[in-house]
Amino acid sequence: MDYFRLRGTGVSPGIAIGEVSLTERVLFTSRKEIISPRLVDDECKRLHKALERTQEQLSGIRDNVKRKMGEGHSIIFEAHQLILEDPSLMSGIEECIRNENTRAEWAISQANERYRTLFESITDDYFRQRKSDIEDVLSRLYKNLAPAQKRKREDDGEKILVAHDLLPSEAAVRLSRGNVLAVAIDMGGQTSHTAILARSLNIPAVVGLRNITQKVKSGDRIVVDGTDGEVIINPPLAIRREFVSKKKKYDDYRRELKKTAKLRSSTLDGVKFVPLANIELPEEVSLAFSMGAEGIGLFRSEFIYLQSPSLPSEEEHFSIYSQIAKKAHPFPVDIRTIDVGGEKNLPQLKIEKEPNPALGLRAIRVSLRDRDLFKIQLRAILRASTLKNVRVLIPMITELEEIKEVKLIFSEVKQELRQDRVKFDENLPLGVMIEVPAAAALTDVLVSEVDYLSIGTNDLIQYYLAVDRSNELVSYLFKPFHPSVFRVIKFIIETAHKAGKEISVCGEMAADPLSAILLLGFGLKKFSMNPIFIPRVKRALRSVELKTARKVALEAMKLKTAQEIEEYIIERILVKHPKAFLMQIT
Ligand code: PEP
Ligand code: MG
Repeated sequence: MDYFRLRGTGVSPGIAIGEVSLTERVLFTSRKEIISPRLVDDECKRLHKALERTQEQLSGIRDNVKRKMGEGHSIIFEAHQLILEDPSLMSGIEECIRNENTRAEWAISQANERYRTLFESITDDYFRQRKSDIEDVLSRLYKNLAPAQKRKREDDGEKILVAHDLLPSEAAVRLSRGNVLAVAIDMGGQTSHTAILARSLNIPAVVGLRNITQKVKSGDRIVVDGTDGEVIINPPLAIRREFVSKKKKYDDYRRELKKTAKLRSSTLDGVKFVPLANIELPEEVSLAFSMGAEGIGLFRSEFIYLQSPSLPSEEEHFSIYSQIAKKAHPFPVDIRTIDVGGEKNLPQLKIEKEPNPALGLRAIRVSLRDRDLFKIQLRAILRASTLKNVRVLIPMITELEEIKEVKLIFSEVKQELRQDRVKFDENLPLGVMIEVPAAAALTDVLVSEVDYLSIGTNDLIQYYLAVDRSNELVSYLFKPFHPSVFRVIKFIIETAHKAGKEISVCGEMAADPLSAILLLGFGLKKFSMNPIFIPRVKRALRSVELKTARKVALEAMKLKTAQEIEEYIIERILVKHPKAFLMQIT
């Protein structure tokens, strides 16, 4: 038995040691089998039988997953049913059978190829990966062409799931059974469905392993280290022991996190702060609250566009917003209107290829260009606001005129709803993101137009320092501790406070315990972040007094480089209060 170590991307932390269950990949065919024209009708019937079977399966799985894991996780199967109901999909496949006199297998494979090419032209990682939803539906349909006895049963037992790529429905079905110790897959990235699902179910997962499926067989023993993104195949005893002890440390760390999540959110001197969650899917709401979130500070609504290959309808928007609002109630939910364009291009939105997308048609600029689309979204948000815990957040505002225009459209939509006698929260708060230098400099002007502000530090740093946030070549210049970044953030927070308006930070800076302490020192009380980081930030903020944070922030402001600031905070906080920091076990 060969011993190997493979590196991938750890997308859900934790360690598992166990036996492999290798999932076979569904391969579409590349063989074009021609049939006699008189068999074409039978072939179409075969396709429709497979369609019926697929529909039955999907509603069965949907109900089962809903029962076991809650509505959030079952939504994907509704999306799959919708994909399947899309007349253009089925008629395209049938047309291929009829026009080319081919087997249904070939026609489905061709449809899959068409969608694959379409989705692969998308540059954004998350959006590109949504092609797997279509592939998922098509591969289920494909498998259902085979007679019943040939369709394989998925295996049981407490195992480590190894697969080339887990299709979203497959991930939900397999992971919901409660017998998957860990997941290791060839494909995928941080934002794949499997990654999100594994994180929310606390199942260690490593993706992007490239060829693990070729290195293992069912029954092999492996270690999956989701924290460090490593998989060890057939580990010798000494290595197994090492990982058993690492697993214990991680499990203790996790217990500590859970305890922290339940503690009060106040500083050592009793000043209240509010941890909030950034989410991309309704499925993440329960994870957020279990980690100690006291609201959703950022719902990146553009992710809805990934549920279907066409533009989502008002009902689809509404269903997602109301689910989140209900689950989070009475806590607030900030729904950010779509932030597409830039690196998140979507073919449905027909944004031209741009020479410099980060400075092009992005976020609110797209919404103000495609007003009908914007109105659909605002209508759905307003309809979902009846519980009075929904707020709207506008991304990438750069000038006053934009916010004036947004307000005009907003009041038009409200008026239309009143005319249609549709209920909504008349006082639904409107906020803007401060994530562009121009908006930062104009904070006093913008803040007087809206109910609240949220600082998007990811983009603010990108645009303020002129450093592409996704370009590895310049990542060394992307410095959250850069003194310019601190100066501008301090200015924004103080300006919002002077105007008596609420302000939060929803970029990654809120998720780092050291920068969170500095932000607290500047007067910030609302910190929105990826839910898994909430306990560690909470622990850090709970262990300092506000006056210490203020002093540290003041001193840090006198320093001239990012390195000096970072070292100073480490010296003043980390070294003096080591217990304040929940260190990730590595
Ligand atoms: C940000 O820019 O900091 C932010 C939170 O938004 P996003 O990361 O979605 O651009
Ligand atoms: Mg942003």
